[in-house]
Amino acid sequence: MAQRFALMIDPVAADSGRTDFADTFTAVDAAAPALSVGELSTQRGDGVFESIGVVDRHAQEVVPHLERLAHSARLCDLPTPNQAQWHQAIDVAAADCGDGEYVIKLILSRGVEHGPTPTAWVTAAPAADFTPVRENGVRVVTLDRGYDLDVAQNAPWLLLGAKTLSYAVNMAALREAHRRGADDAVFLSRDGFVLEAPTASLILRFGERFLTPAPNGGILHGTTQLSVYEFLAARGLTAEYGRIPASDLPIADAAWLVSSVRLAAPITAVDGAEIPVDRTLTRELNQYLLSPRD
Ligand code: PLP
Repeated sequence: MAQRFALMIDPVAADSGRTDFADTFTAVDAAAPALSVGELSTQRGDGVFESIGVVDRHAQEVVPHLERLAHSARLCDLPTPNQAQWHQAIDVAAADCGDGEYVIKLILSRGVEHGPTPTAWVTAAPAADFTPVRENGVRVVTLDRGYDLDVAQNAPWLLLGAKTLSYAVNMAALREAHRRGADDAVFLSRDGFVLEAPTASLILRFGERFLTPAPNGGILHGTTQLSVYEFLAARGLTAEYGRIPASDLPIADAAWLVSSVRLAAPITAVDGAEIPVDRTLTRELNQYLLSPRD
């Protein structure tokens, strides 16, 4: 998935009360080197990011993504991103996308070591074809993440509610899932509750009731999960947050991994044991998630 488009942003120039930020953007060759070797995002993963789905040039859920970028920046003691500046950068990137599905990434890094300012940039690239996974689903294995459910309160410096660039652990979990013959993983807390996947939120269905792990349990609050909950509420369905024991996952009536670009992937098996797939609702969810959402 080659980057097609890249825009460097000057986050410092955004401080004034202006409304047009075009002169704070520099379009760069997406295939050419653009970052300093001293960049702390590449050396330490010291920064925050967002991945936004784009469908037919419409960037989905821009404001929730910008709000989460600001939340992540706050948790990491990074300067608050100027929402209007980033919104304009997203509009420029979306206009460069073609028909079909793309992904826009926002990156705000600590910057160059000992340097005066953060580094910020936006990229756009065609998305992978997730149609097969939306239709055929994913087999997951459960993996111990090694922390209790109350870790976010007891150790906020682990930054578990922030979308930081430090995804090495998440990628290692995916490789372990593949080694075990599965497609994806679901993290469990040490004290036995389900959390999230390495790059997605988890939603379970028990009868007419939908349940997702509460975001205060050291997980990322997913924009797609929030959007799905709006969809379910509009249909009069009960959609709640809770503490979900690991033993509930294999007995769910249906379960999904949801995220901004892959959208809703039904879970077909947990640790080798098949679980039911709600094909009708999965199709409706993906139709909704592919429709323009603000
Ligand atoms: N949880 C983690 C750890 C993630 O990395 C992601 C997305 O990348 C999500 C949940 C889902 O978030 P969203 O729906 O905003 O893409």
